Amino acid sequence: MIVDRQGRRFRNLRISLTSACNYACTYCVPNGKRLVAAQDELSAEAMARGVAYLIEAAGIERLRITGGEPLVSPKLEAFMTAVGQMGLADISLTTNGQLLAKKLPLLVNAGIRRINVSLDTLDASAFRSIARGGDLATVLDSMDQAAAAGMKIKVNMVPLRGQNLDQVMPLLDYCLERGYELRFIELMRMGHLATDSNAFLQQFVSLQQLLSLIGERYEYLQADAPVDATAVRYQIPGLGHFGVIANESVPFCRTCSRLRLSSTGWLHGCLSSSNRHYVGDLLDKPRHQALPALQRLLVKALGDKQEVAFSGGATIMKIIGG
Ligand code: SAM
Repeated sequence: MIVDRQGRRFRNLRISLTSACNYACTYCVPNGKRLVAAQDELSAEAMARGVAYLIEAAGIERLRITGGEPLVSPKLEAFMTAVGQMGLADISLTTNGQLLAKKLPLLVNAGIRRINVSLDTLDASAFRSIARGGDLATVLDSMDQAAAAGMKIKVNMVPLRGQNLDQVMPLLDYCLERGYELRFIELMRMGHLATDSNAFLQQFVSLQQLLSLIGERYEYLQADAPVDATAVRYQIPGLGHFGVIANESVPFCRTCSRLRLSSTGWLHGCLSSSNRHYVGDLLDKPRHQALPALQRLLVKALGDKQEVAFSGGATIMKIIGG
């Protein structure tokens, strides 16, 4: 097992199945252009082999499938079928929900029981101006259908000053009423926001600001969370839970156990580092040839992790999937 001086190791793998997306969220894609798949994306088979090799070489236990938008990828079915047979403790998926109802039978059959749905507002007009794609009613309906099919749902919201702060309480209430867990994600300095401090600071909403807002209506207590959790979790007694992924306010670098594989075959050990390591060629090789080389790259990827605090990175979220 590869472990660093701080005792960190890779346990959680996040795979970006494709960089294509049917949204163009303002904080992710500043020019508003709909994203297409990169030309050199790996096949479903190579990506699934990547998961198998990384289970062995890095001790991966949990897999999250993300993107781009994973549900637009033609590779989804073949990939899900392959990774569903690998004995992972947990496979989950992050989606914007547009195609969720359509893909639900496939996801249920593949053993997915937990999904995160990104939703920044319940206001249809604000939805159009932030997501710049898709349709709000479709997302809400798909979450109902997923919940009815037995899926555990978390909703990801990025609070943005001047755009959706008025939606913090409506979304929280919506989620509490339905038993979904709302996760606020503090805006991260990724892609264009890594270089444009003004744009970042104008929109950024901190953990403390969120808690003050929520505290005006509800009493909350800090709840337990796993040691390597990214979110600070709170309980509203009698009503449910919510969480805040507070990259800036409460950095979790010291316990980070995440490894990312991009759709084009690059390993990223840290969101905050511009280092990446190409493994696409190794994934076509047989296990005995691929594993030693992969292990050397994993040592480098683990060395890319920040010591203490998240400082942002030039990589765009659509490439590595958040
Ligand atoms: N398309 C899928 C979705 O919408 O969930 C998966 C990919 S998306 C990049 C994953 C998550 O990253 C979303 O919840 C999105 O809101 C979040 N995200 C993207 N850019 C971000 C940023 N700069 N700061 C914080 N969260 C961001």
